[in-house]
Amino acid sequence: MKELCIIGAGPIGLYAAFNAGLRKIDAFVLESAQLTGGQLNLYLEKTIYDVPGHKAIKTKKLLNDLYDQYKTYENDIPIYYNENVLSIEEKDDYFVITTNRKIREAKKILFTHGGGMFTPRKIEGLEAKNIHYGVYDLDRFKNKKVVVFGGGDSAVDWANLVVDVATSTHLIHRRSEFRAHKSSLDLFLSKKGIITTPYTLNAYKLEDENVKSITIKHKETNHLIELEVDEMIVCYGLIQTKTDYNQWLVRNEEGLIIVNTDMSSSVNGIYACGNGVTYLGKQKMLTSGFGEVVTAIGAINFELHPEQKVPKYSSLIKK
Ligand SMILES: Cc1cc2nc3c(=O)[nH]c(=O)nc-3n(C[C@H](O)[C@H](O)[C@H](O)COP(=O)(O)OP(=O)(O)OC[C@H]3O[C@@H](n4cnc5c(N)ncnc54)[C@H](O)[C@@H]3O)c2cc1C
Repeated sequence: MKELCIIGAGPIGLYAAFNAGLRKIDAFVLESAQLTGGQLNLYLEKTIYDVPGHKAIKTKKLLNDLYDQYKTYENDIPIYYNENVLSIEEKDDYFVITTNRKIREAKKILFTHGGGMFTPRKIEGLEAKNIHYGVYDLDRFKNKKVVVFGGGDSAVDWANLVVDVATSTHLIHRRSEFRAHKSSLDLFLSKKGIITTPYTLNAYKLEDENVKSITIKHKETNHLIELEVDEMIVCYGLIQTKTDYNQWLVRNEEGLIIVNTDMSSSVNGIYACGNGVTYLGKQKMLTSGFGEVVTAIGAINFELHPEQKVPKYSSLIKK
């Protein structure tokens, strides 16, 4: 049985996974979304000014760096995506974690759930194997006819990525104006990307659970265009669903887990940190969350391995 289950792969969960790896804790991460980063995905293009050691850092860069740091231990500490934790059951000296997909077990739990779940907004009623909500494997888009829906930064960023490898990339938006930066749109056009606005999805044809072609309709003229599709990327934003604590055992207040100074919750063996916790003076900020991770992982490690003499400082830990 694994020693630790980390719930949530936002910035704090990613840093927790890295810290668990550093302390040689046998862990895994459950993330309800198909992507890491939690709330950072809401402001990827913005600049953050209060991360220690960085005068200014773009959110997207911080997220890439956090993921890169986590990757040091990705083979030992896997992230299981699309696993929404529904309930926790306490056994004698371990926990049973039920998700929408599986029943898992771990000796300890660390909640880094941020207080809610992020799920991509979907096209109503449309599910298909070739619909994506981001680009996680660029090879999949190689030599394909790709259609990207959306008008924000993510849509244009993903379009700019796939346009380099795809046969054709159509960016379709329901408005004539984009929320995305003009420079990103210019870049897309310079790479021979095709922008079609103001059009919305009107119809689609499915074959073997894949979208094979779509028809898009001009918002004013009703003009129809039919496009063949190999892969489709939908960037309609993320929806946050607040955590329902009924099945999570821990004591909570106004949607947040009440923790002690060592980040332990009301249940022995369950810890929590990040935006989903509350204590006197709690600041819902990245640096506070990162500090809480160090405290929580230290306490969890001590519970799991009281005999272990692991150096406190990472500079003294040999890889
Ligand atoms: C617009 C904006 C600007 C911000 N600017 C700054 C700033 O400048 N500086 C700063 O320090 N902070 C800033 N913040 C706050 C910062 O983003 C948060 O403090 C940080 O994201 C909290 O990280 P977290 O990992 O605790 O939670 P989240 O980022 O919310 O991540 C939680 C993760 O857990 C997953 N999850 C939730 N429930 C479940 C479940 N049941 N099962 C499995 N997975 C689950 C979610 O899908 C998500 O991926 C900003 C926030 C916003 C919205």
